[in-house]
Amino acid sequence: MNNKEINIPSLLKIGNGKIAKIGKYLVDRNFTDIALFFSDGIENIVADKLYSGLEKYNIKIVHKDTISDINIENAIHTAFKIPSTTKVLLGIGGGKALDYGKYCAHILKLPYITVPTSVSNDGFCSPNTSLLVAGKRKSVKSTIPYGVVADIDVISNAPISSLYSGIGDTISKITALYDWKQSFLKGYEYFNDFAGLMAHNSLDIVYLCNTLKPEDNEFKYRMVNSLVLSGIAMEIAGSSRPASGSEHLISHALDAVSANPKMHGLQVGTATYLCSLLQNNQQDKVKNFLLKTGFFSFAAKDPINKDDFIKALKLAPAIKQNYYTVLSEQDSFDKAINFIETDDILKQVIK
Ligand SMILES: [Zn+2]
Repeated sequence: MNNKEINIPSLLKIGNGKIAKIGKYLVDRNFTDIALFFSDGIENIVADKLYSGLEKYNIKIVHKDTISDINIENAIHTAFKIPSTTKVLLGIGGGKALDYGKYCAHILKLPYITVPTSVSNDGFCSPNTSLLVAGKRKSVKSTIPYGVVADIDVISNAPISSLYSGIGDTISKITALYDWKQSFLKGYEYFNDFAGLMAHNSLDIVYLCNTLKPEDNEFKYRMVNSLVLSGIAMEIAGSSRPASGSEHLISHALDAVSANPKMHGLQVGTATYLCSLLQNNQQDKVKNFLLKTGFFSFAAKDPINKDDFIKALKLAPAIKQNYYTVLSEQDSFDKAINFIETDDILKQVIK
């Protein structure tokens, strides 16, 4: 197994007031001509701070788009409309604009800077994009961003649901790493120790925070850090294994069977607790973290439909081919149903 070349973000700015400084970050790297992708409704929120910073350093906007769809064909068309003078692409917003911009940059082989305005999952710094391919949502291989600029002031104003979703995506490392290790021990695939270590430590950054209140600045700062490291762990592993196991299969299956799926991390967090019980793996750690952060109280306000969840459990092992997780075990389905029927917390969040 040879060491391979990996990309790691060179520009990493996480903190308060960072959007106003983007002009400076760009000029320092000679990124004078830029293309901007905004999520719907985001431009107005960041315009004053962003544009005054860009003007100050004479940064020229050569292309600007507001993204409301994630169709891969539209992204390809957009990429070829971007002027050849463009030095860097920036995606500003939640999921869609970040994925769309990342894929355009990947096609054009240009650096990409991601500016998440909410942190509901680890996609803003991952080497993959979530796009619609022939009408179906797919994870498409892309390039990890050159830079991440996360302004905690802006992230603080995002809906609280996105923070709870981010919490769910963070804790999923516990069950994802266990599935990956088991798959390795059974001889199905290679386990990358460094990617595993990084994913494990990415969780501790949040877990060992002085506060577990999502509204506290320090918690948000650490969560962004944690999700960045999770994305880098995937880049090192060359797969999503360090951050995606049985709990993600259940969430992907819920997306397929539910009329109104919940946010990714809300489904993932709930499934992480169930899968930790199935794995008999650190279930108390998962439970305490999700209780103390208020994740379970938040999820219980709008529980996942039980029939949908059971359908998703049946479908989940077949979501990815040749992919061992605890759900591949024959008795997992019956055990999972039993936990859903008897566990006091699961009874609140899956109804
Ligand atoms: Zn995820």
